Amino acid sequence: MAKKMKIVTIPDPILRQASKPVGNIDKKIKQMVDSMLDLIGNGPDETRTGAGLSAIQVGKPLRLFIVYSPEGNPIVFINPQITKRSKTCVSGVPHGKQRYYEGCLSVPGFYAILKRPKAIKIHYLDLDGNVHEEKYSDFMACVIQHEYDHLDGILFIDRAKEQNAQIISEQEIDRQTK
Ligand code: ZN
Repeated sequence: MAKKMKIVTIPDPILRQASKPVGNIDKKIKQMVDSMLDLIGNGPDETRTGAGLSAIQVGKPLRLFIVYSPEGNPIVFINPQITKRSKTCVSGVPHGKQRYYEGCLSVPGFYAILKRPKAIKIHYLDLDGNVHEEKYSDFMACVIQHEYDHLDGILFIDRAKEQNAQIISEQEIDRQTK
């Protein structure tokens, strides 16, 4: 039995590490991705605990992350490179007509409304080693940029500080929405 994965949370210094490119996409990598999918819940929207997860968040400093599309399909990004970012930004994570707070499984209980480029172009490998270049916008673009930051040891709370955006606790959000 493989050792059960756990989410690494702040202030663990591993989260600040820059991750290394994935070499061979071998059985070990595929098993790691399976465990990551199990960890955040490979099921319907309501049972999932996050929209994305980077390998560094389970203690593996590799340039790999997974993102669930709003339709609930997991997409695996290996050795990704964002090659273009739109000048237009969105404030808050767009999902339909709503804008959501950005949060992170590694920073439990805290959220912020961040500005991020609305659209990106990203180059990456899938689990079979096939090369992809895709454009993403809105929800997917935000989640991908959040995960991409993890590869360089950057957390959303750093972006919040850069942007002078308020970091807000879950309790405060609950109070506001009551
Ligand atoms: Zn995160």
